[in-house]
Amino acid sequence: MTLFSVCFLCFIQPHSVLGSEKSTEEINQERMILFKNAETITQIPWYVLASVDQYERNVRRTRNDIPKAKGVIGIYIRPELWAGIQNPNQSDTNPASIALFGGLGIDGNGDGRADPTNDEDVLLSFADYLLSYGTDFENIKIGLWDYYQRDKSIGLITGHMKLFKKYGRLDLDQHAFPVPIRFNYSYKNTWGDARGWGGRRIHEGTDIFANYGVPVRSTCYGIIEMKGWNMFGGWRLGIRDSTNTYHYFAHLNGFADGLEVGQIVEPGQLIGSVGSSGYGPPGTSGKFPPHLHYGMYKDNGRTEWSYDPFPQLKVWERAEYRKRK
Ligand SMILES: [Zn+2]
Repeated sequence: MTLFSVCFLCFIQPHSVLGSEKSTEEINQERMILFKNAETITQIPWYVLASVDQYERNVRRTRNDIPKAKGVIGIYIRPELWAGIQNPNQSDTNPASIALFGGLGIDGNGDGRADPTNDEDVLLSFADYLLSYGTDFENIKIGLWDYYQRDKSIGLITGHMKLFKKYGRLDLDQHAFPVPIRFNYSYKNTWGDARGWGGRRIHEGTDIFANYGVPVRSTCYGIIEMKGWNMFGGWRLGIRDSTNTYHYFAHLNGFADGLEVGQIVEPGQLIGSVGSSGYGPPGTSGKFPPHLHYGMYKDNGRTEWSYDPFPQLKVWERAEYRKRK
């Protein structure tokens, strides 16, 4: 891999020198430099690499079977892929022998080693892997599918791509409380409560009680992943944000005009209004007091599970009150 034999990123300080006091903004700046440089070398767009990195970082945070990242890049390439499956030395860092055994690991920072814990090496190795498929979106998607072999993972990564490409930045973790705080509403922590309809299920979310027609807003930057009727949730909408988290809104009275699956939404953007739809065939309404059912689900690269949104709602609500002052 002579292409990567020069130290193209040597102006970036080693992370050990920077220490642990870096702000999120500084970390994102560092990441962006790494992505843009990898793009210059491989022609793989920066937002593709940023999306894979973002997806993997969030998977990594939720899993105990993957070592924690040492640098700013979250991509983890398993030893057998890094060194090559047939390589007798699974911790090989010699670029030549790794290449001989068909491993993905390359030397990205020009220090002569292919180090699976070095940011530049990892990022360039992944970009180089994608480059073997091509630089256009369809071929990149095939490369991603061959790597992850899971439709859900590809869906998450391509969703992140849309967001990063549109906004041109990495910090898309701003949030909004789902109903405007100027309206009357109330909610309490009902996580895990038994619920009355449709058999024995536990309550996976928080109910925000408000009048019919109170606006419901997106809680995040994200992509509309699902929109439609379900006999339990009534008219409901799902938004996937850039941290692999799924935000679920149910029992809506209706949707904001023109919302479509695949569309980008922003924190605070109107998506619908409070209602009491559900618990029956399409159009059923009024079987319980109007409220927004809000749920959050996390994907860990294998499966998805719901977690209690109540603490997050409290944080977002407090932030809205502070903003109003
Ligand atoms: Zn509910």
